[in-house]
Amino acid sequence: MERDICEKMCAEFKVSENNCREIEKYYDTVILPKIKTKYLSHLVASIEELINRKMLEDNKKKLENIDEALKSVRRYSILLVPGNGVGKAKTYSSRFGAAVYYNPKNETTDLRILIAHELGHVVSEHRGKTSSDNFSNVFAFLAINGKDKFYKTKAPTFQFESEVEIISNISALCPILTEDQTDISRKK
Ligand SMILES: [Zn+2]
Repeated sequence: MERDICEKMCAEFKVSENNCREIEKYYDTVILPKIKTKYLSHLVASIEELINRKMLEDNKKKLENIDEALKSVRRYSILLVPGNGVGKAKTYSSRFGAAVYYNPKNETTDLRILIAHELGHVVSEHRGKTSSDNFSNVFAFLAINGKDKFYKTKAPTFQFESEVEIISNISALCPILTEDQTDISRKK
């Protein structure tokens, strides 16, 4: 981040510059690389939920308390796995989930399409229908077009005018009253 933005946050959020940079470094090196591999994660999570719901209903499981509900809620997972030697992308399915292998050498725009296509296969299987590349391509179109529309029309309405505006909005919603100058870069 720019120096003035860092200073702005130090002042507004009452943190030291060191700690501000430490958090930025963690975000850039640990969180961001994770986010970058979560292609179409809303779509992945929604399909997982759809299949998990169905499995719950099939089991006629009584969800008497929240512990039981939490334990039962995730039975099926979709993993996106980077790997070479899988052609462009390939899906392995089991009772407990699907692993979508993709070749990370593809361009990001291509990867999104390839993964959407693979998710089309997962959805077909879940619906007990014959899985075909034809259906998967239609599914890929719907998914990618849906995302595209979202980015063009909906996403801009979530955007802020500036980084400074984001800081003041955070400050207004989550006011900071006390100083925190703990050196978080030091190990406990
Ligand atoms: Zn296919």
